[in-house]
Amino acid sequence: MKVYLNGSFVDAADAKVSVFDHGLLYGDGIFEGIRLYKGCVFKLDEHLERLEKSAKAILLELPWTREELAAAVCASCRENGLEDGYIRLVVTRGVGTLGLSHLSCKNPQLIIIADKITLYPEEYYTKGLRIITSPTRRINPAALPPMVKSLNYLNNILAKADANQAGCLEAIMLNDQGYVAECTGDNIFIRHKDRWLTPPTAAGALKGITRGAVLELMDQLGLPCAEMNLTRYDVWTADEMFLTGTAAEIIPVVEVDSRRIGSGQPGAQTRRLLEAFHKVVSRDGRMIR
Ligand code: PMP
Repeated sequence: MKVYLNGSFVDAADAKVSVFDHGLLYGDGIFEGIRLYKGCVFKLDEHLERLEKSAKAILLELPWTREELAAAVCASCRENGLEDGYIRLVVTRGVGTLGLSHLSCKNPQLIIIADKITLYPEEYYTKGLRIITSPTRRINPAALPPMVKSLNYLNNILAKADANQAGCLEAIMLNDQGYVAECTGDNIFIRHKDRWLTPPTAAGALKGITRGAVLELMDQLGLPCAEMNLTRYDVWTADEMFLTGTAAEIIPVVEVDSRRIGSGQPGAQTRRLLEAFHKVVSRDGRMIR
């Protein structure tokens, strides 16, 4: 595998950054997780726009244009002979002194890893996920805006550990007010009767690209959806539920905190949305050649 590192492709084993990079020392940096479907980078422009906004929020001046970043993403897929895969684009603050100040870091590092995707096992799409609510809260927006897709994932990692210790793969994270924010790496949708509901990004959810694509599909399919603050009670009593994310796509949830969701089987609307999603993924993005 070849990794893109600051303008050139290097063997994976030689793809290294300095121990003085603030990305390593302080988690000072940002990233994107992107999918390649049939030679088409899904929603590449939206991912790069989110990256630019994350950069702006953390005072990181990107020395690359959006077109340069897009070209580097496509080149990484071609270099690795991929038609389908997962792309991890990372921008670190770069090498600096041991102090916290970002001003000592003059050159942000750009890393692009394009690889095959490891999906959730198929059985979770047919049987649905069992998840819990983690006691680990989503980061307070007054500390670090959760819309920033930063390299600081420690609280999500702890929440994922809570899930794993409970024998689950995902966990719901609440915000500091106790409202549902999102899962550790996925956004949340629930249905009550005829209406779908999803937490607003202001509740501490990342503005997921898959979430956005699903909202567009719901609009086209005539499935009403509202953004609303949700409690655990709203989730426990939902008729249908799924999670969205670049890697997971749309994955049904059938149990939360030992409460069965709906009939305890993946819902029909979830299946319909996943089918519709698969139809658009290789059309809605940028071809790599
Ligand atoms: N929330 C968090 C915390 C995430 O890390 C991710 C990405 N894995 C998502 C939601 C889903 O976002 P997207 O659809 O853009 O992958």
